[in-house]
Amino acid sequence: MYVVFLGAPGAGKGTQAGVVAEKLKLAHVATGDLFRAALKQGTPLGLEAKKFMEKGTLVPDEITIKMVMERLAAPDIKNGVILDGFPRNTEQAKALDAALPKTGKKIDKVVYIKVSEPELIKRLAGRWICRDCQTPYHEIDNPSKVKGKCDKCGGQLYQRADDTVETVKNRLKVFFAETAPLIEYYTKTGKLVEVNGEGTVDSITKSIIKALGDKPTQK
Ligand code: AMP
Repeated sequence: MYVVFLGAPGAGKGTQAGVVAEKLKLAHVATGDLFRAALKQGTPLGLEAKKFMEKGTLVPDEITIKMVMERLAAPDIKNGVILDGFPRNTEQAKALDAALPKTGKKIDKVVYIKVSEPELIKRLAGRWICRDCQTPYHEIDNPSKVKGKCDKCGGQLYQRADDTVETVKNRLKVFFAETAPLIEYYTKTGKLVEVNGEGTVDSITKSIIKALGDKPTQK
């Protein structure tokens, strides 16, 4: 199953994509994580992406699309994937629609995780992420058991450089201008399912799995 998770920054795409991917045995590909990993390694891709990420604007399509297509060719994608943070505009969606049929694949469902704007700002301001496994936490809504440490792997938690008030505002602006048109794009294809992204992590996971029309594989 090929699934796209759509939602504003702070909607919980990363958290939910991680949990749902594990339950349904799908790969989880997050473009933001790929860019941050490239930046950590100091690769040319990472350094180029940094200029845009710092401002909260989108990395150019040419670079992003190439990176995603290479990632989708990896063997771990064969059972399916949750795309988290891609596509982010109509150009990227069209590129994906053009490329997937060449490998006998197609997007099956698009999950739009809807969260109100004031809630998004509140969430992003309190967000902490594991440096090692990228699991996100929230200092009030979803804190780690031990302050500053990841529950899953014991890694150190950090706040993203682009979770500052100014950059957050810009990222939300970019979402409403460039990514929100994808809601209509995928509604027209009949693939969009909308899920209320406000509630507990567990209840939202259940809504997403129900919306995907699939039973989770028992662990
Ligand atoms: P995220 O972790 O999804 O919030 O992404 C962090 C930043 O990475 C974004 O603000 C963009 O600068 C960049 N980015 C992530 N995904 C994409 C994409 N599909 N297209 C362009 N830029 C992206």
